[in-house]
Amino acid sequence: MKRVLITGGAGFLGSHLCDRFIKEGYHVIAMDNLITGNLANIEHLFKLKEFEFYNHDVSKFVHVPGELDYILHFASPASPIDYLKLPIQTLKVGSLGTHNLLGLAKSKKARFLIASTSEVYGDPLVHPQNEDYWGNVNPIGPRGVYDEAKRFQEAITMAYHTYHGLETRIIRIFNTYGPRMRLDDGRVLPAFIGQALRGEDLTAFGDGSQTRSFCYVSDLVEGIYRLLLSDYPNPVNIGNPSEITINQFAEEIIALTGAKTKIIYKPLPKDDPKQRQPDITRAREILNWEPKVNRAEGLKLTLDYFKTVLAK
Ligand code: UDP
Repeated sequence: MKRVLITGGAGFLGSHLCDRFIKEGYHVIAMDNLITGNLANIEHLFKLKEFEFYNHDVSKFVHVPGELDYILHFASPASPIDYLKLPIQTLKVGSLGTHNLLGLAKSKKARFLIASTSEVYGDPLVHPQNEDYWGNVNPIGPRGVYDEAKRFQEAITMAYHTYHGLETRIIRIFNTYGPRMRLDDGRVLPAFIGQALRGEDLTAFGDGSQTRSFCYVSDLVEGIYRLLLSDYPNPVNIGNPSEITINQFAEEIIALTGAKTKIIYKPLPKDDPKQRQPDITRAREILNWEPKVNRAEGLKLTLDYFKTVLAK
């Protein structure tokens, strides 16, 4: 039985990865310090003997007994509100945490995959963003703590690949949504759905003309799984290229929920990217991957989840 370590295993993406690897017949070790993760996301796995959970901060030395075939590093505060609240932890988990886990991967001869991000492109001057674009990031702005941690993470991961011959994979994740997002994580989708379900007005930041492209979580997990099993060490964008403005997104959520609310406008946060759309040519060619779940289907599944959370 292959053994995989998933850091951030109790988080939104990490917990879906735990489910996927259990389903594929792996022994899964989830690690999380629960500062933004939630045990409720993985409690259904606790009864399985193929599943283990370690409450640990990967910024400190990481010890895992036994063999490891794969390490997936998904631990990090990941929403703008979270990393503004936790700037030092965000920098540490991307830098010290990644270094610790690379050392672990080297000693176990494990393949190492990192969750990088479309934020490495910053407020992009190239559209759509392909992997060869170097980005437009403000290192000392509010998002710098996340963006630069992720850029450092890519750099050190590539260095271990080049200088130590470690097998490494880099995925650049664009906006992703689905069940197990936290209603209070501040991201646009939980914010809008929460507001609509409570009958409040939806808060668009700026004039709402900025764009994003939203990928449903099952599509993302499929892309990660394929990249891990591929032999490709350079970064690969995974996301859904269907791009909309935040205003259109708010309208879709009002229509979907049937809420009797309107859009109101709040100041645009500093350095908020104006547009974002993944160029997924590389993922199509190398992984034969593309998203399957459209926004109407994905939003419905996500809304059903949030309704059950609010009913508890
Ligand atoms: N946003 C918004 N209202 C909210 C939360 C976010 O208009 O209540 C906007 C935000 O300014 C950004 C977009 O929605 O332009 C996506 O924000 P999110 O925090 O989800 O992630 P980002 O893509 O900026 O990392």
